[in-house]
Amino acid sequence: MLNPSHPFLHTYARYPLTLVRGEGVRVQDDSGRWYLDACTGIAVMALGHAHPEVKAAVLAQLDGLWHGSNLVHMPSQQACATRLSRAFDDAAVFFTNSGVEANEAAVKLARKHHHRRGDPRSEILTATHAFHGRTLLGLAMTPKDKYRTGFGPLPPDIRSVPVEDLAAAVTERTAAVVIEPVQGEGGCRPVTQLAAIRAACDANGALLITDEIQCGLGRKGHFRTPVRSDIVALAKALGGGLPLGAAVAVNPELHDAFQPGDHGTTFGGNPVACAAADATLRIILEQDLPARCGSMGGRLRAGLEDLGLEVTGQGLMLAAHLGRPAAPLLAAMRDRGVIACPSGAEAVRFLPPFIIDEGHVDELIAATGAALADCA
Ligand SMILES: *Cc1c(COP(=O)(O)O)cnc(C)c1O
Repeated sequence: MLNPSHPFLHTYARYPLTLVRGEGVRVQDDSGRWYLDACTGIAVMALGHAHPEVKAAVLAQLDGLWHGSNLVHMPSQQACATRLSRAFDDAAVFFTNSGVEANEAAVKLARKHHHRRGDPRSEILTATHAFHGRTLLGLAMTPKDKYRTGFGPLPPDIRSVPVEDLAAAVTERTAAVVIEPVQGEGGCRPVTQLAAIRAACDANGALLITDEIQCGLGRKGHFRTPVRSDIVALAKALGGGLPLGAAVAVNPELHDAFQPGDHGTTFGGNPVACAAADATLRIILEQDLPARCGSMGGRLRAGLEDLGLEVTGQGLMLAAHLGRPAAPLLAAMRDRGVIACPSGAEAVRFLPPFIIDEGHVDELIAATGAALADCA
């Protein structure tokens, strides 16, 4: 039934929180209260809110062109693609609006690559506890009954196996393995088998697609995943808060797999989003923020462990596993002035901005400790 004051389909059970403003590591609600933001709109605001250089880039672009489409050339899109390309070994880039569209482009590119070589394989392998998005392809790669029930049939020839069995599951029928280097919704679990999965892909002519939509661009402590991927899917932090994703074809053999007309998007690579992304990427790289994610993440992890919490994750992508529903602790943390988010039902996930400093980390730990006591 429609609630006239909340005219939405019922996709989200929202927090009782209305945000109106963001500045640096903090956000403000409609009563004027400020919070330390350890959720960043689900791993999006890597440079914090309203970063002055990103804002200046967006405002300059707004004085020029707001939208032009991919039928034409646009300087901010060109600049952003060039920066991304250089950061990924002269990769070729396809821009999207969102994460799941980046995965979609990556999977289509992988299948097309095999098809063009006269070896039309279609099997896509993913891991259990993976999260790859909510379209029908995203769901087909996300083996969680709670998300899938009622939406079938899903696209075929997509299979999920436990991450430790993935390498052995790759065969000469496999078009690509799609894997998150650190599983985000699945409890911030770093995948330790990446090198074995890479080797299995190489042995069988399959491609490796890393879904770095959540962990990418430095959050996990390094800008690039040490294991070579053929295609990297990005989004979330990429657009600096504006909607932008990218399928980044690192393997040069893939650069000609798409030909004009094979794939497309109206809004993907919007020039305003690309202006924000170009500034965001420049600052992440110039200021070596991935290293900062590593060091601040280490401090946060140690502080949370000192509170007696079981912590998993990497860099500034950490989950505290409670063994009981996380919602009451998340609410108590908001009362203590900190916003975090869940990972599954029983873990609290910390996704603070890359620019967080020691004082903020200590504030986060203290608020979490106080909230734990409030909930006891
Ligand atoms: C958020 C996320 C997605 C989906 O991104 P959307 O922008 O919501 O479509 C896919 N994969 C991972 C790992 C994510 O964290």
